[in-house]
Amino acid sequence: MPVSLDWSAIDTVLLDMDGTILDLHYDNFFWLQYLPGAFAAKNNIDEQESREILKAKFDSQKGKLNWYCLDYWTRELDLDIVSLKKEIEHKVAFRPKAVDFLKYLNQIQKRVILATNAHQQVLEIKLLNTQFHQYFEELVSSHEFGLPKEEQGFWMCLEERLGFDKNRTLFIDDSIDVLNSAQEYGIRFLLGIEQPDSQQKPRSMKPYGTLSCFSEIMAIE
Ligand SMILES: [Mg+2]
Repeated sequence: MPVSLDWSAIDTVLLDMDGTILDLHYDNFFWLQYLPGAFAAKNNIDEQESREILKAKFDSQKGKLNWYCLDYWTRELDLDIVSLKKEIEHKVAFRPKAVDFLKYLNQIQKRVILATNAHQQVLEIKLLNTQFHQYFEELVSSHEFGLPKEEQGFWMCLEERLGFDKNRTLFIDDSIDVLNSAQEYGIRFLLGIEQPDSQQKPRSMKPYGTLSCFSEIMAIE
């Protein structure tokens, strides 16, 4: 179903980073392929065993801030996660039409804010490779508040810091749990992403509107 938006009812656009403006393939590749390889080599185990150990560790932290925290995983796995991430930074890429969409938002003079669960060091790696900061008024990592987007406290801290009107705000994210949290807080316009990872199959984000391409919500002038 096509998504339609009334831009005149929106002042502020909050955007997720990974899987929304950037291709989630970099992150999925890192955590599901590159890291298991490095962990296997370090511990002298095979990759299958490494994957199983890591999966159990990841599952135990899902939805918590630790899951997104490089310091945590650096300690927990005894691997330099930032250096490993930098080794494959050439894979950091925008999702299709993301730059056009960011330019469009600037052109129609919306307030554009990044709201990410990514750790600041990951944010830095991504900024160095994509320069997307130029399109944003502010870049906010949930690590600043010590609460992930899945928690109501994150939204309270964000509103306190930015002073946005949640009735006139659009939030786009590729996580249902995060959209649920934003909805519970009262963000009025919510949209999901159909294909966060370019190498994986599209999926619906029901009950939320699902964007297959940013061009769907860019009015042609
Ligand atoms: Mg995301």
